Amino acid sequence: MSLFDDAKKVIPGGVNSPVRAFASVGGEPYFVERGYGSKVVDTNGKEYIDYVCSWGPLILGHCDQDVIRAVKECADKGTSYGAPTVRETKLAELITEMIPSIEMVRMVNSGTEAVMSAIRLARGFTNRDMIIKFEGCYHGHSDGLLVKAGSGLLTFGAPSSPGVPVSIAGNTLIAQYNDISTVDKLFLEYPGKIACVIVEPVAANMGVVPPEDNFLQKLKTSCEREGALLIFDEIITGFRLSLSGAQGYYGVTPDITALGKIIGGGLPVAAYGGRREIMKLVSPSGSVYQAGTLSGNPLAMAAGIATLEKLKTPGFYKKLKEKSDYLRCGMDENMSKLGLKYTLNSIESLSCLFFTEHKVDSYQTAISADTKIYAKYFHGMLERGIALAPAQFEAMFVSAAHTDADLDTTIKAHYETLKNL
Ligand SMILES: *Cc1c(COP(=O)(O)O)cnc(C)c1O
Repeated sequence: MSLFDDAKKVIPGGVNSPVRAFASVGGEPYFVERGYGSKVVDTNGKEYIDYVCSWGPLILGHCDQDVIRAVKECADKGTSYGAPTVRETKLAELITEMIPSIEMVRMVNSGTEAVMSAIRLARGFTNRDMIIKFEGCYHGHSDGLLVKAGSGLLTFGAPSSPGVPVSIAGNTLIAQYNDISTVDKLFLEYPGKIACVIVEPVAANMGVVPPEDNFLQKLKTSCEREGALLIFDEIITGFRLSLSGAQGYYGVTPDITALGKIIGGGLPVAAYGGRREIMKLVSPSGSVYQAGTLSGNPLAMAAGIATLEKLKTPGFYKKLKEKSDYLRCGMDENMSKLGLKYTLNSIESLSCLFFTEHKVDSYQTAISADTKIYAKYFHGMLERGIALAPAQFEAMFVSAAHTDADLDTTIKAHYETLKNL
């Protein structure tokens, strides 16, 4: 009996989030004993250079000493009070300082909750019910967003989930990422009915697909014209592309932003924020209801503050990008040596190797990637001590803890793996 078999008896599929189960690559997941720096160590004592990085939060790597110290100091004073603490104000100040479009921010516990609440707020603000999302963009698992969702669901080949009422899904309209005409068509079809457009500014749950041709600016223009709000789901891109997220990186300002992952430094935190005029509608200052027993949890705030403070170190993102660029160049070189023409998309410290020779700039081109070859690639890398996401349509995350030696080891493993595919 494996640890996975034990888990499967008491946890659906043996995991607490579907993609961890290795369903799309086959085999059994490694169980992690501990992580440090760029590495995770499994229960058999095998070490891996980790590019999952908890699916994005660990931009500083595992077990960053400043983050761990902050959490320990905080835990010594208790783990939750259900009353305000100054840490909540401090993290909110850090976020509002770094991301100018966020004048006020509310903490929640998961990205799902942040996006769900942001959409409720957009509906409350505009008095409209319908929303537009993009095929292949993932925004958590709330009902209205499990409509042709990407990532885990995409991998499992289900267009939506049983249990989501048709009446709820009916308020979600689906457009195509990087194609503004599909958005404008929906606005034309449903005049005055659309509360918001929600987008991952860099789509990072269908692999990694950056915006092209001023797509984000065009979205902003269309939303303004139609009186709809623009929501950026920056749960991956926030504090990943730059200190001011994708919005700072591309110079496009959304009305509401959802944050998560990095802002918790590996603890469960997410947030949504935006213009004061909009955020004032959130209860108790306004009437759009939203609450949380553990929201603003002291341990999570401590981890978030310690993480964001470190990101302010001058040159942090430049160094991170250099690491990622080094890795990308190495992989590109490997592929030209081997005469392979797979598509490697990359932006800052996010990348994805698509097993297709097409340019990947849309959901349709992304899903043309060969997931069977990815599965072989994944296992080849894992055998060589490199932990990648166990699914094709996920990002590879480089952290500040990845060393030059790690990157060289990875490039070598990449060459050997591709050669033997
Ligand atoms: C991870 C993710 C979410 C969901 O966050 P959870 O904390 O898993 O609920 C939402 N949007 C994007 C873009 C994500 O990557």
